[in-house]
Amino acid sequence: MENRRIIEKSKILVTGGAGFIGSNLVDRLLDQGNEVVCLDNFATGKRDNLDLALQNEKFTLIEGDIRNYEDCVKAVKGCDYVLHQAALGSVPRSIKDPMTTTDVNIGGFVKMLHAAAEEKVKRFVYAASSSTYGDSKALPKVEHRIGNALSPYAITKYVDELYAKNFSDLYGIETIGLRYFNVFGRRQDPNGAYAAVIPLFVKKLMSHESPVINGDGTYSRDFTYVENVIQANQLAAVTCTDRMKERAQEYYKEHEQKNTWADSNGVLAEVFNVAFGERTDLNELTHSLKENLSKFDGSIVFVDIVHGPTRAGDIPHSLASIEKGRSLLGYDPRFSIRDGIKEATEWYWENI
Ligand code: NAD
Repeated sequence: MENRRIIEKSKILVTGGAGFIGSNLVDRLLDQGNEVVCLDNFATGKRDNLDLALQNEKFTLIEGDIRNYEDCVKAVKGCDYVLHQAALGSVPRSIKDPMTTTDVNIGGFVKMLHAAAEEKVKRFVYAASSSTYGDSKALPKVEHRIGNALSPYAITKYVDELYAKNFSDLYGIETIGLRYFNVFGRRQDPNGAYAAVIPLFVKKLMSHESPVINGDGTYSRDFTYVENVIQANQLAAVTCTDRMKERAQEYYKEHEQKNTWADSNGVLAEVFNVAFGERTDLNELTHSLKENLSKFDGSIVFVDIVHGPTRAGDIPHSLASIEKGRSLLGYDPRFSIRDGIKEATEWYWENI
């Protein structure tokens, strides 16, 4: 079956491999018998996330920085694929410190991409972001229709897409950007000023503190369990270019979209939404977290939810169309938000 396609017998560089998504990729790729290199400077990643990997002889950790070209060159040596996850996440962080976010997310991105092109890797798959849709109110979000960026973070992620396409044209490196939508799951950090909503609320509920919902709780997101992201990365790496090209012709025609690469002899440079394709509002989400955590501690069901003011710059709703990924990659997300929350709360209960 197409959606069983996985990366095997390969050497893969996972940048940001000590982080939430990166470490989940590292473990899966090692499980499948691959050789895996991780480049990370531990800015937000954790050594604990690599506990399992560090016991595997096929794993190499390079403690280094994507802003340092020599580190990028060393890390990518002999690799078949790059799964580029390293970046400074968080919209609020980028608003507070736009310069560092830009240095890492654009400067570091270009260095890693350049090193990968020089090494002639088979494909460079990178973490793009749903923040690229900016202020566009259209739902569902379709890859070719974006709005104005609402943060320095969003700009960095869009600029990365432009660089990737340009490097494909100029240097012949195949690139695929995956626009992740609100990813959650095991190892997502619940601590710090920039924690994402799910781990933050889980931690609050576990300590019987009230989570604060910004606004009345009707804002909604397309929450995406990390397993679906692992599937998308593998498909993005291994799906055969010709097959994708064939399907792209049909997809673009059917959707009356401009063909970005598949019409010409252009080198593969595509972006895809990675989401579940369903929207959940914050009230439903919090209710579901309470319900799941109550299995471990019945008193959690009595923790009150508090509502605060809406946050400036927050868009009311986000929902992805995943049709393009389905058509070109055979992306078929298996984990609903419900399944994901069940697994994630079990993990948090045992691990924090
Ligand atoms: P994370 O913070 O857990 O992981 C990022 C990793 O990159 C960390 O291990 C960090 O130490 C490393 N890193 C940061 N700067 C670096 C540098 N200069 N050199 C080397 N390593 C560096 O975040 P995550 O949620 O796992 O995100 C992974 C990727 O996915 C990021 O590119 C992020 O922008 C993107 N993304 C995430 C989400 C989400 O919902 N989590 C949504 C959209 C996009």
